[in-house]
Amino acid sequence: MRAAGVRGTASGPPRGIRHEPTHRLQLLPQKRNRRHFVKVIVIGGGWSGCAAAVSAARQGAQVTLLERTDALLGTGLVGGIFRNNGRFTATEEMIAMGGGEMFHAMDACALHRDIEFPGHRHASLYNISTIEPQVQRALAAAGVDVRYQVRITDVELDGRRIVAVRTKKNEGDLRFEADAFVETTGTAGVPNICTRHGNGCAMCILRCHTFGIRVGVAARCGVKEIDGHKLDQFGAMSGSCKLHKESLAPEIAEQLNRTGVVVVPIPRTGDAGSEKLEIKACQQYALPEYQENIVLLNTGHAKLMTPYFPQGELRKVPGFENARFEDPYAGGVGNSIRFLGMAPRDDALKVDGVDNLFCAGEKAGLLVGHTEAVVTGVLAGHNAARRAAGEPPLVLPGTLAIGDAISHVREQMQTEKGLGLKFTFSGSVYFERMKERGSYSIDVAAIRQRVEAAGLTGVFARGRQPRRATRRGPRKRWPDQPQG
Ligand SMILES: Cc1cc2nc3c(=O)[nH]c(=O)nc-3n(C[C@H](O)[C@H](O)[C@H](O)COP(=O)(O)OP(=O)(O)OC[C@H]3O[C@@H](n4cnc5c(N)ncnc54)[C@H](O)[C@@H]3O)c2cc1C
Repeated sequence: MRAAGVRGTASGPPRGIRHEPTHRLQLLPQKRNRRHFVKVIVIGGGWSGCAAAVSAARQGAQVTLLERTDALLGTGLVGGIFRNNGRFTATEEMIAMGGGEMFHAMDACALHRDIEFPGHRHASLYNISTIEPQVQRALAAAGVDVRYQVRITDVELDGRRIVAVRTKKNEGDLRFEADAFVETTGTAGVPNICTRHGNGCAMCILRCHTFGIRVGVAARCGVKEIDGHKLDQFGAMSGSCKLHKESLAPEIAEQLNRTGVVVVPIPRTGDAGSEKLEIKACQQYALPEYQENIVLLNTGHAKLMTPYFPQGELRKVPGFENARFEDPYAGGVGNSIRFLGMAPRDDALKVDGVDNLFCAGEKAGLLVGHTEAVVTGVLAGHNAARRAAGEPPLVLPGTLAIGDAISHVREQMQTEKGLGLKFTFSGSVYFERMKERGSYSIDVAAIRQRVEAAGLTGVFARGRQPRRATRRGPRKRWPDQPQG
């Protein structure tokens, strides 16, 4: 191994950045072969789970992704904003490292590119109506076996290793064995938490009443999970809702479709609900502009950048007389509560206390966003395949924004103050840190050079070509099919 060095680049960084060892992959042919015969199970099909599944499959592992609902992407089904502020840098770092499949899917479904809205530059917006089938196709191309309506509620342990995960008896009594597991179950909900710490179940995209509540795998292994907080409340409320575009005045809908952004001042008589910005999960939007204006973004629906907005008050605003919420259904009253039940983990994203369990996305800490979920998912899936093959995990160096974010958030989660914060490449405290460290850049060549200097170009793409999902061949070696 050699020490990673980062040269100063046009994007301005690296002065003062600590040089950390590069964890270069040494893919000897026999190691590659070993990875062909390992089995990885990913639990939770949000952005982090989809990224983890593709990443593990890229290393040759046989991957099964288990999702409790009938659709992939979890909270990503109602999001849409990407490449804004430092997320651009993280996205291009991951593409340079060869783990860009999920970002290519987002780009392919982009309705708007390079747009600006308060506090955010060079953002893209994906179409929430078309993104999920696009990701399904990417998983199929990578050979990932996706099982829907499989909700994991229990684990079988052998000492510090998970042997298998299971569903409830009355939910099919399914059992899945693997060599390594990735938990990507998110932190959103569940209804009694949204009731206790929010304004009640807002009937959000997670549809707990239909598909059963989120269940954390780490907790089932006896791991003590971590709860975030905001001011004196547990967790944080999700920060945006969707309105039916058809319920808006035609000129607002037209501008939204054409430009991607509409900003409408809220008349002074309206209830701007000052506390709403305090409680939202997305600190990067807790700016006065979002307090004084209705900010809409076009993600297929009209994304309203506030956790909730009393419907009666909203309808007093010119152009919003007929406004109707699409997501959550009770967006006039509240939104989902997130960031409870995170897993303690190391910088390789291995869960503390369980030898073959990795985690990513919100489960891995106070990281908000699709981009954050994808980059951690790629690393967790990669390391699960490596662990299953008996190889040491990869830790990304702090010279990369992604590596720094992963270790910085872990450190912050060990402090009371840090547990009250949220971290995202797109704003607030972590974007400030990126700027201070000089790691924020929109210069793609410079970002690639930084990845190259760390010796990590294409690291997530190395390994074997994606397999087609098939019932033939080495698959038979694993008794992973549901039993019972
Ligand atoms: C309303 C809203 C708007 C947002 N807008 C944006 C945005 O515009 N841009 C952005 O970057 N971020 C946005 N975010 C944040 C972003 O969506 C999340 O931070 C990120 O997508 C989290 O991904 P995840 O994979 O960690 O978790 P989740 O998206 O929560 O996915 C977890 C998945 O695991 C499944 N699951 C849970 N338990 C089990 C189990 N036991 N067995 C099997 N499956 C299970 C769930 O059904 C779900 O599909 C938004 C969030 C919300 C709620």
